[in-house]
Amino acid sequence: MFPMKTTRLDGLRAKAEETRARLLEAIPARYSPWAHLAATTGVGVGALTVGLWGIKGVAAAELLVIPVTVVVANGVEWWAHKHLLHRRTWPFEVLYDRHTPEHHAVYWEEAMAVTNYRELKLVLMPALGVLGAAAAMVPMSAVFGAVFTANTGWLFLTTAACYLVSYELLHTVYHLPEDHPLGRNPVLRWLSKHHARHHDPKQMRSKNFNVTLPLFDWLLGTMAGDRSEDEEGQSEGSLASEAAAS
Ligand SMILES: [Zn+2]
Ligand SMILES: [Zn+2]
Repeated sequence: MFPMKTTRLDGLRAKAEETRARLLEAIPARYSPWAHLAATTGVGVGALTVGLWGIKGVAAAELLVIPVTVVVANGVEWWAHKHLLHRRTWPFEVLYDRHTPEHHAVYWEEAMAVTNYRELKLVLMPALGVLGAAAAMVPMSAVFGAVFTANTGWLFLTTAACYLVSYELLHTVYHLPEDHPLGRNPVLRWLSKHHARHHDPKQMRSKNFNVTLPLFDWLLGTMAGDRSEDEEGQSEGSLASEAAAS
């Protein structure tokens, strides 16, 4: 029985490798993972710079917009991951296509690390998408600015954009090689484990949708428990169907 299980798992690994090789081959030669990472980080640095330029003489009460934005963003992250990244929904099909049959087909709980930094293309959103999402928050920040104060608008925009970039950077950390120095940080290690549980095919549509702080997973009861022996067998079955679907 044990050798059969090993063989099956090996087959699934081979399927994941096949998907990885196919996706890597499709990445244009000019692609630079470092430029991708720098551009993503640049959106966050740009948002901070714009915020610091716009904010003038901030009052203590105005700073409340920071925690409020973080909590709302955490809820949006949970909702979007569950409903847009794991369900093909018009007009956001591209989000599903890149996430469920690609990102989840290559990385699963026992094999989370990139094997080559060009794979950051399979982990990070396109930097222009991050910039576009940050830009989409400008009208809402203008409403905040008009309804409350100008500083509130700037603080909302900066916090929301930096939150989005932190999602991207944390997600990258979770998929770094196991011996990467960042893996020694206990907080990052705990968050990585939380995301790795989500990469169990059996759990990916029901658990651990938060990629940053698992606040809404905790509030809405979608925190995955520790992996049990029983789940391992079922996960292999789920992985088989997910791999076949990709
Ligand atoms: Zn991931
Ligand atoms: Zn997912």
